Amino acid sequence: MHLPSSAGLQEGSVQARNAPQPADHDFEHSKRCDGPNRLTVLWLPQPSQDALPDFADLVSEAGVRPDVIVLSEASGINAMAGNVSRGTAAVVPVVDVSGQKLGGADLALAMPSRESVALALRSLQPVIDRVRALPEAFFQSNDPDLWLLGRLLTRQRGAEPTRDTASALTITFADSQVLPDLIASAERLSRTGHLERHFFDRLNTCPACSSARLLIREECQNCRSSDIMEEAVLHHLRCAYQGPERDFRDGQHLTCPKCRARLEHFSVDYDKPGILTVCNACGHSTGTGAVGFVCLDCNAKGDTSLLQSRVVNSYTLTDRGRRAVLSRNFRLGEGGELKTLECRRSVRSFVTEHRALGIACTILVIRLSTAKAQASHCTEAAITAATDLFADLLRETFTPETEILRNGLTFTVLIGGDTPATISDGLDQIRKPLEQHLSVDLDPSYEVIAPEDFEALT
Ligand SMILES: [Zn+2]
Ligand SMILES: [Zn+2]
Ligand SMILES: [Zn+2]
Repeated sequence: MHLPSSAGLQEGSVQARNAPQPADHDFEHSKRCDGPNRLTVLWLPQPSQDALPDFADLVSEAGVRPDVIVLSEASGINAMAGNVSRGTAAVVPVVDVSGQKLGGADLALAMPSRESVALALRSLQPVIDRVRALPEAFFQSNDPDLWLLGRLLTRQRGAEPTRDTASALTITFADSQVLPDLIASAERLSRTGHLERHFFDRLNTCPACSSARLLIREECQNCRSSDIMEEAVLHHLRCAYQGPERDFRDGQHLTCPKCRARLEHFSVDYDKPGILTVCNACGHSTGTGAVGFVCLDCNAKGDTSLLQSRVVNSYTLTDRGRRAVLSRNFRLGEGGELKTLECRRSVRSFVTEHRALGIACTILVIRLSTAKAQASHCTEAAITAATDLFADLLRETFTPETEILRNGLTFTVLIGGDTPATISDGLDQIRKPLEQHLSVDLDPSYEVIAPEDFEALT
C-alpha cells in the first residue's frame, strides 16, 4: 500500500513494516456480505465533520462497533475504553490524526483533511474486511491471548520487537500500547502452538530492577573503580626481571630496577610479555580486569556475572492460532479438559527449556477458594471482581515475561531464574501485596513445586 506523500499521509509504525500482503483465503467469504461500501467511524474525542469523507458515517450511539477509530487527541485513547469493548479495541484499525504519534495506531496523518482521511480509510479496507469477518464471540471475549491473535490475524503480520531506549527493557512491541500484557500472552500462545517464536536478541538486565539500560565497563577488581588504565609488563631479558613499565621508567629512559642496566632496544634488551590493569584509585594491579555494570535506572552496581539474562522473541501466527480466532466457539481462556492439557504442556516445555539452558526455575501454584466468601454471603459479582483483581495483582507481582496460566480459580506461575528455595523463602513477600487489597476472603493456598517434582508428577 503506497500512498502519495502529498496527501500528508505517513505510514504508521505498524503498517510501515508490513510486507506485501499474502493471499487471504480466510476472509474470502467476508466480501460477499460487505454490502454498500460505507464505513462507520468512531472519532474521538471530538469528530471533525470537515475531514469526514462522504463514504463514512460517524458512530453516534454507544455499543455500535465502528469499522475505524480516528483519534484527534491523545485523550481519545482513554475515551476508547468507554465506547468499545477491549476485544474491539484490540482489532479495529486506528488512524491517528493528533499529530502526536500515538502508539498503537495503524496510520498517522500529519495534516488531516477530507482527502487524506479518505485515503487512510481506503488503505485500511483489507484490515476492516478482516475485522468484519471475525466471529461475534471474538468481540465479547475477555481473553487477552485471543485479542492478540485477532490483532495479528487482521493485520496479517507477526509481533516484532523494536529497539527503544525510552523503555527500561530497551525494546518495545508497537502492539503493547493496545495489549499491555503482550509478552506474557505471546509466550503463553507460543507454548500452546498458537504462535511461533523467533529469537530476536538476548538482553542483560539489572538484578535489582530488571532494566536493560546498563553501563558496562572494565573496573578494578579490588575497589570497583572504573578509573583504571592498562600498562605494559616489561621483561629484562638478561636478568629475567619482570615488572610494570613504570618501575623501569627513568625520565626518558628505561632502567632495570633489579640490575640497573639501561634497556635500549625492544626484543634485544627487553620484551613486553603482557598487559596489566592498574587502578588509579587504589593502586591495585592485575593481569585480568573485572567487568562491571552500573544500572542507569536504579544505580545498582556490581560484577556483570550478577546480571540476569532475558531472551526477547518475535512471534508469528500459526495455522492453529488463525483457526482459534476464526472458530466460532473456541475460547482460549476457559477451563475444562483442553485448558488443563494445554497448561500441563506449557509447564512441561517451560521446565525442559530452563533445564536445557541451565537456568533455575520454579512452578508456583496458587489456588483460590470461594467457600469462605460464600459462607459470609458475598455476592457472585463481588467474588468475581475479587478474583479478577487477584489475577491483576498477581500479574503485577511478576516481571512481564513471567508466564501465568489461569484455569478457573487455579493460577500456575512459571518463574524463571529463581530456585524453589528462594521462592519458598520469599513467599510472604509475594502473598502480602496480593492479599491485602482483597475485600473478599479468597483463602489462597500456595504450593511451590520444584521442576524435578513436576517431572515426577507427569
Ligand atoms: Zn537497576
Ligand atoms: Zn582499585
Ligand atoms: Zn635487569
